[in-house]
Formats: sequence, C-alpha cells, structure tokens
Amino acid sequence: MFKFDDKIAVAVSGGKDSISLLHILAKIERKHPKARLTAITVDEGIKGYRDEALRITAENCKKLDIEHVTISFKELFGYTFDQMIRRLKRKSHEEETPCAYCGVLRRKALNMAARRIKADKLATAHTLDDETQTILLNIFHGDVMRIAKEKPVTDEVHPKLVQRTKPLCEIPERETSLYAYIKGIKFQSKPCPYASEALRNDARAMLNRMEERHSGIKFTIFRSIEKIRPALEEMARKEGLGECSECGEPTTDKICRTCQMRKQID
Ligand SMILES: [Zn+2]
Repeated sequence: MFKFDDKIAVAVSGGKDSISLLHILAKIERKHPKARLTAITVDEGIKGYRDEALRITAENCKKLDIEHVTISFKELFGYTFDQMIRRLKRKSHEEETPCAYCGVLRRKALNMAARRIKADKLATAHTLDDETQTILLNIFHGDVMRIAKEKPVTDEVHPKLVQRTKPLCEIPERETSLYAYIKGIKFQSKPCPYASEALRNDARAMLNRMEERHSGIKFTIFRSIEKIRPALEEMARKEGLGECSECGEPTTDKICRTCQMRKQID
C-alpha cells in the first residue's frame, strides 16, 4: 500500500479506528526515514461533537510528533454542517440522510487537504466491518458499480485525485478497538449527533450475527468481492472520469455530487 518514501496523509476523525491507524502508521513510519506522515481532520462544523474530536486528535498527534492539519466545511463550502442541515430542513430538501451528504463532502474535503500538502497517498481507517457493510449497502441500494471504486488501493485515475489506501480493510473492528484499549490510546467514543444510517445499522447487526454463528464470514464476503472486482472495474472503466463543469474536481458525472448537493443547500 505504501512506498518507503511516500508522503502519507492519514484521515483522522478522532474515533478508535482512525486513532489506532495513526499510532500504527507512526510506528511504521519511524523505521522509514524518507517517509512522511501528516494527520488530516475534517472539521464539518458539528457543535458539541467535532470540537472534542479535534482536541483528542491534536493531543495524539502531539504525543506522536506528527503534523496535524484541519480543513473545514465552512472554509470549503461556505457553511458548517449544522448550517447545511438547518437549510436543508427549512427547504424540506432532505432527499438523503445527513450521513450521505456528510460522506460526499468529507471525501472531497479529505482529497483537497491531501492535495494541499502534496501527499502521495491518503490513508483512511476503514475496517473489515466498514468494508463488508458498504458492500452490502451498495447491493441493497442497487449501486453495484460503486463496489468497483471502493477498493483497498485506488488507481491513479486522475491527477487531482490523491491515491487512497485502506490499511485496516482486513482488520475486524473488534481488533482495532482492542488495540486502542490495550495501548491505552485516547479516542472519542461519543457518537455523531447526526448518525442516522438505519440501513447501515441493520447491515452491521446482520453481519455481526452471521459472524458470531459462522466465524470468518466477513473475510469471505470481502475476499469474494476482491475476486469479482476486476470484472466490475472493467464495466466501470467504460463510464470514464471527467472534470466537474462547476468546480473542476474529478467526477463521473457532468456536475460532481458535491456541487449537486450544494445546489440543494444554497
Ligand atoms: Zn463540482
């Protein structure tokens, strides 16, 4: 996933998975003098939630002697996430859950922050649980082509897209939790006040139930998808990747999803 001289940006939300990833990458990076590590936190502007996470992340970075940069929705999109949700509610324009909006905007913010610091790779802390849930969600939504794009290491498809890696994609969430607890690492445990992904919660519960009865099933799902992914990618390749006519960011549509969402908010 990484080269010995990579400049790695790691997305740190302050939760147990990303804080554990930060500690693990910091440990590995120390053995590679030419590699560089920077933590990126997206400040969505969620009162009473993100402020605590930012503080915890900053503390961890200081302890590990890692550079920490933040990028905010307010700076990038003109509104905090709290303001966006208020506006969407007022316009009764909630076509999707807050998590869906936030996910798209965060993804864009992370890419822009990683590009700003000229990172070669952007590492995110998606675990085996996140990956298998997303696989099921994409199937439940009928959005199967997205499975091709959500791979553990993305291709270098566009000069404006920083290559993304998911070092924890084969690590069950219980193990990242265990790591954080055993190491005595401080992380944020408070859930996001907007967390409302009903379908993801059902997928999570289902997978956990299955895993309990049939040990290893999450790995089997993940590896099954890895096997068929090349065929899906071949189909996805035909879609092509262009630049958004509004903001110039890479997209498969004429107008990127961020700009489509901003139109609903503005
Ligand atoms: Zn755009």
